Amino acid sequence: MFNLILFGPPGSGKGTQSEKLIAQYGFKHLSTGDILRAEITNQTELGLKAKSYMDAGQLVPDEVVIGMVDAAIMANPGVHGFLFDGFPRTKAQAEALDNLLMSHESHIDLMLALDVPDEELMARMLNRSKTSGRTDDADPAIQQKRINVYKNETLAVAEHYRHLDKVVHINGLGSIDDIFAALAAEIDARD
Ligand code: AMP
Repeated sequence: MFNLILFGPPGSGKGTQSEKLIAQYGFKHLSTGDILRAEITNQTELGLKAKSYMDAGQLVPDEVVIGMVDAAIMANPGVHGFLFDGFPRTKAQAEALDNLLMSHESHIDLMLALDVPDEELMARMLNRSKTSGRTDDADPAIQQKRINVYKNETLAVAEHYRHLDKVVHINGLGSIDDIFAALAAEIDARD
């Protein structure tokens, strides 16, 4: 099993690059944002609870998200590897993920961290909002809130995996194909 975390601020291209990585390597994609949006669409109790946090640009509580990931790992035995996208987003989530994987005799192999400046993130989110209909992408105040949450709460996740010597930074500016090639080179060097 080869488990990858694709890490980066909101708007850094994680979703776009995840699609390409899945097509090339056959990872099982595990995007907590996508799962939460599906829960909202299906108007589940979890979705209703998560929506107010997401609309405000805040994180959904750790126990909710960790429970979702636990269920998704359980539901996918025997996969070649997971691609975690948008998770973990707090140190508590990172520790929970390590423990969950350990209970499946597995671990995180690599974190690829996309580096993109704030102004570019805001521009990309605004652009995405035109086609995605995501309200959290359209409002500059919510965009800024999400970037602040990333800096205050999520950067600790990179620190956690840096101590474990698992982080490689990738320049997230440039063409989609060039960024993909840089990501793929790091995976190919290890897989
Ligand atoms: P994303 O699609 O990854 O940008 O996530 C959209 C929103 O979903 C975030 O702004 C959070 O409100 C929520 N969310 C997604 N993943 C997580 C997570 N791992 N922990 C907490 N909240 C999350």
